[in-house]
Amino acid sequence: MTIDSTALPFTVPSGRIRPHGLAGTIRAEYEYQRETLCLIAARSIVHPEVAAATQSVFANVTTEGYPGDRYHSGSAGADVVERMAVDLACSVFGATYANVQSHAASTANLAVLTALLDPGDVVLSMDLASGGHLTHVSKPSVTSRFFRGVYYGVRADGRIDLAEVDRLAGEHRPKVIICGGSAYPRAIDFAGFRRVADRHGCVLVADISHTAGLVAAGLQPSPVPHAHVTTLCTHKQLYGPKGGLILSGPDAVSPPPGRTETLAKLLDRAVFPYFQGSPDFGAIAGKACVLDWVAKPEFARVMRRVRELADLLARRLERDFDLVSGGTDSHMVLVDLRPRGLTGRDAERALEAAGVLTNRNRVPGDTTPSRVAAGLRLGTNIAAFRGLTTADFDRCCTGIVDVLADPAAVPRVRAEIAGVMAAYPLPGGWS
Ligand SMILES: *Cc1c(COP(=O)(O)O)cnc(C)c1O
Repeated sequence: MTIDSTALPFTVPSGRIRPHGLAGTIRAEYEYQRETLCLIAARSIVHPEVAAATQSVFANVTTEGYPGDRYHSGSAGADVVERMAVDLACSVFGATYANVQSHAASTANLAVLTALLDPGDVVLSMDLASGGHLTHVSKPSVTSRFFRGVYYGVRADGRIDLAEVDRLAGEHRPKVIICGGSAYPRAIDFAGFRRVADRHGCVLVADISHTAGLVAAGLQPSPVPHAHVTTLCTHKQLYGPKGGLILSGPDAVSPPPGRTETLAKLLDRAVFPYFQGSPDFGAIAGKACVLDWVAKPEFARVMRRVRELADLLARRLERDFDLVSGGTDSHMVLVDLRPRGLTGRDAERALEAAGVLTNRNRVPGDTTPSRVAAGLRLGTNIAAFRGLTTADFDRCCTGIVDVLADPAAVPRVRAEIAGVMAAYPLPGGWS
């Protein structure tokens, strides 16, 4: 299947051309986001109140250190907003420790690994094709220059096999086990992971960047009571600013295996001064704002809708496609395209031309390069937030199936998608 890229609704010129200036480019992007159905599982829309907090005067503050212990004067307001974000993070996730300074989940993961490990130490994590994340000591990540990664996969049914994790931990003696990933559609047995970690004297790190909203709303099990450390980002399922959070539950107050200082102290030092100077206080204000919203019933309603739409998407796609693990417990559906003789890249491009944004993704046992990939990942965070009705979302699912069956359907489906999305303005009147 080949797609004519000039047919894309918003084509970025390849040279140094700036045809519309920045204001015009923002306007074009606004129109593009408004008229497309974004099913990219890692994306969301920043809640408008959160956006305002992020762009408040706190964006002007540069200071280092932690509340009550700063390296610049005039930081009392920054202390208040950071303490607020920490308290809200602890109460939303039932944590006893939170660090809200990380610029991203990637840097949060780097800080956590640095806090817990010495160079050359072994980390056991999920392999990339099974849904793990780059920063979990995968080969392409800088983390693999400092630490040695060994990897567990998934069973033929697409599920994690804790017996395999246990066996690999016994064989390779990792210091840290990481669970959580970016393309694993199923709930994770965090208590089971902790039992394996304890059996082998390992520290358990859970990365819930993709499912933090479902966890906060109680629709997925929480790792916080079980994992020594939990990391997440605020810009995927929380509809917050770009940024990372590091949480710890009951283990925060004691030294982790192999260390003498408390986990809380090790984590704080790893974020600052190991990895960062000044945090982004605009983002911290945005984190406080979004966590306040996450605690409210309206957020839980959005998360229930995320799940309903994901189940609908899975039901519609499973008639014609193989779904990894046969379905979903989250916002995410992962399609294995191999039986259809399609690559993830071709499927992604065909849908993009029809106004449906998804992303190619490797699937368990995938032997294609990640730029091609044998799978397609779709998620419902944005569709739920924009309030799509079941009937309208179902219409979009029909369009997706039609385009993947025959690229000749692209122009018709593109018009249909734009027609559906016209009824759903971007929340808060973004422009
Ligand atoms: C997206 C993601 C990250 C990286 O998040 P950034 O904040 O964008 O750096 C880390 N871990 C997992 C599992 C993710 O899905």
